[in-house]
Amino acid sequence: MTSIYDFSFEQLNDLMLANGFKKYNATQVFQWLYRQKVSSFDEMTNLSKNLRNWLKENYSCDGLVMLKRQISRDGTRKYLFQLSDGSNIESVLMHYDYGDCICVTSEVGCNMGCTFCASGLLKKKRDLTSGEMVLQVLEVQKDVMADDIRVSHIVVMGIGEPFDNYDNVLNFCRTVNHDLGLGIGARHITISTCGLVPGIRRFADEQVQYNLAISLHAPNDEIRSRIMPVNKAYPISELMEALKYYASKNNRRLSYEYILLKGVNDTDECVDQLIELTRDFDVYVNLIPYNTVDEHGYVSTDYKTAMALYNKLMSHNVRCTLRQKHGEDIDAACGQLRSKYERSQQ
Ligand code: SAH
Repeated sequence: MTSIYDFSFEQLNDLMLANGFKKYNATQVFQWLYRQKVSSFDEMTNLSKNLRNWLKENYSCDGLVMLKRQISRDGTRKYLFQLSDGSNIESVLMHYDYGDCICVTSEVGCNMGCTFCASGLLKKKRDLTSGEMVLQVLEVQKDVMADDIRVSHIVVMGIGEPFDNYDNVLNFCRTVNHDLGLGIGARHITISTCGLVPGIRRFADEQVQYNLAISLHAPNDEIRSRIMPVNKAYPISELMEALKYYASKNNRRLSYEYILLKGVNDTDECVDQLIELTRDFDVYVNLIPYNTVDEHGYVSTDYKTAMALYNKLMSHNVRCTLRQKHGEDIDAACGQLRSKYERSQQ
């Protein structure tokens, strides 16, 4: 049965009209779901009995099952949810000075095969629906409401490649962004891609205000192809052309994610090359300490080297941050909780 959470506000409007109901019914249902956060059609008390019954017969209003929740010493919360088909996904909530940010999963598993990432340990089973992404935000918001926390930012940086599930991810963004619902500002929503060039070009043409992050992780094709197979399909030159195009059409924030892998991508030569890749458009660099994944054998760059790298970027007028680690004590690395859980069930 299709989930009611799969519908953006506009789609809900169309659905109501197409089935003989009124446009304002869509507003009512949307507000019940995202303002009141009810979990059944029966609770939507200002709808006619007829409409409630029709909704019940045709759509599901089920939430996600929370299998596990871990709260880290630094306040990071990690959730393991079960979907209606029995698949498991993770979501993480991180606290920053600027607000509380949820990291949303976009696919069950991932096929991109990045050699450092725990997600790829389990191959992609299927795309998430738009509603399954919306529900991650909703369930986490419900969970933290008692502690007076409001989810204010979203990054689509959990398991999966968002541009491999393009339509559902964009629909999800529209739903959580809508001001009759959760009202999370477009500028507070970031989509992160490993560099699927056609997706980046399509996204550039959307003229939306969401932010775009690129998982760059290496400044030349030799290293990048070694650690990220996607680079063989879309090498750095093609990626840069697509980003130039994106920057020419958008004024939204563009950033590079760059995890620091000791002895792999943290040499002086790498930094020089990275600096070159920031020259053609306005881009922000996030240096990220690597969260160790037992199976992969990579080690994070030590703090002193990371600082030196950061200082060099800064001295070349590259805007950048050296990110704090979050939730290291609770398996917060992308895909770690899920892969550990699934293997413990085998
Ligand atoms: N497929 C998308 C989004 C999911 S990965 C993308 O590649 O951007 C989200 C981010 O976490 C990516 O930048 C990814 O490279 C990074 N990441 C994966 N494993 C990590 C780890 N063990 N430590 C730190 N960052 C990691």
